[in-house]
Amino acid sequence: MRCDVAIIGGGAIGASVAYYLRTHRAPCSVAVIERDPAYTLASTPRASGGVRRLFSLPENIALSQYSIDFFERFESTMAVEGEPARIGFKKGGYLFIVPPRAIDTLASNFEIQRSHGANVVWLDSPALKSRFPSMEVGDLGAGVHSPDDGWLDPHSVLQGFRRKARALGAEFVADEAVGIETEGARVRAVRLKSGGKVEAGAIVNAAGAWAKEICAMVGMRVPIEPMRRYEHYFECETAIEPLPYVKDPNALAFRPEGKGYSGGVPDLREPRGFNFEVDHGYFERVVWPALAHRFPAFERTKVRSTMPGLYDQNELDGNVIIGPWSGKLENFYLLAGFSGHGLMHAPGCGRAMAELILDGGYRTLDLARFGWQRVEEGKPYPERGIK
Ligand SMILES: Cc1cc2nc3c(=O)[nH]c(=O)nc-3n(C[C@H](O)[C@H](O)[C@H](O)COP(=O)(O)OP(=O)(O)OC[C@H]3O[C@@H](n4cnc5c(N)ncnc54)[C@H](O)[C@@H]3O)c2cc1C
Repeated sequence: MRCDVAIIGGGAIGASVAYYLRTHRAPCSVAVIERDPAYTLASTPRASGGVRRLFSLPENIALSQYSIDFFERFESTMAVEGEPARIGFKKGGYLFIVPPRAIDTLASNFEIQRSHGANVVWLDSPALKSRFPSMEVGDLGAGVHSPDDGWLDPHSVLQGFRRKARALGAEFVADEAVGIETEGARVRAVRLKSGGKVEAGAIVNAAGAWAKEICAMVGMRVPIEPMRRYEHYFECETAIEPLPYVKDPNALAFRPEGKGYSGGVPDLREPRGFNFEVDHGYFERVVWPALAHRFPAFERTKVRSTMPGLYDQNELDGNVIIGPWSGKLENFYLLAGFSGHGLMHAPGCGRAMAELILDGGYRTLDLARFGWQRVEEGKPYPERGIK
């Protein structure tokens, strides 16, 4: 098989790139190589679904602005043969709360968010209490609320991109990439487990937590590691006011889901690796104390389910790496290292990657600072005060 662009990995990221390559004004032929069309272990269906503009870096805010606008129109834009692509987008808002010592960072992030057009509201501790009466605010300095942000169903987003990309002519190949052939300073084909190959003018590595393995096929060493984290579903016995997606100082992050709540406490000290085991004591030990401290109504909560999933954690700075392997293999593109933000940035990054490949440079969002160069130079470009 031959195509202009072969994408390895058909999760939200790979499927989004395929969609944007096919909707470009000069579209190209696309093959998405996905070894598991059921997405059993893929990160996308295991994500929490949060989408927010609350970042400190202009690139991340711009990615969110573009992507959340896109999600708002997803149902009709991604409809296939008149069937709407529902993703359950709930504009329930996001809330970042911080202790007094982190107020300055929160304030400077707030100014950046505002100057980039995000709808953000500053809440001091009494304002937090009056807005969210069930919240313990004694140890808080302030919070920033973004009412236009929210959450959606990750699996539906993935299926929406996949279905639309296919309807537009992208081919999904149910096979595993096991090798990449090169010729001089260019990649030329992906070798498949089944024995065949996909010859391509360019290859995109969108393998998420497995991106490092794909890079290793061409001798590229990337600082992206699989990092397990849990998403728990739990309920509260006492009814409280409607909550936004809450991000607490001790890494607790959760949001309403049906009759209960969905969320967890990611731990950056988690040993890296492809680990899908569940530590059934984690909720009681780590999540429950954080939850019950911030919202005493959760004293009597019970965890109903725990789902493990993998971050594609960028160990350099926690942000995506996007672009070609400059100076080495100019037509081998990396799009991974999202470190927990991949779902919310799938539309923006898909578009940016399509522009890089088909226009030779960014047109809509300038993501040059998220390129490979910073890894090469060992110059991290991290968020400030935001994970
Ligand atoms: C618990 C949890 C909560 C999260 N919450 C959020 C959130 O609230 N908001 C947010 O934006 N993000 C969140 N994330 C992060 C988000 O899930 C990821 O950043 C995003 O899904 C990455 O998408 P992807 O397409 O790169 O990866 P994936 O969905 O993992 O897709 C990669 C695909 O590559 C395939 N693949 C790998 N190797 C090969 C190969 N050799 N050949 C063929 N195919 C291959 C895999 O089968 C897989 O389907 C969360 C993640 C977790 C684990």
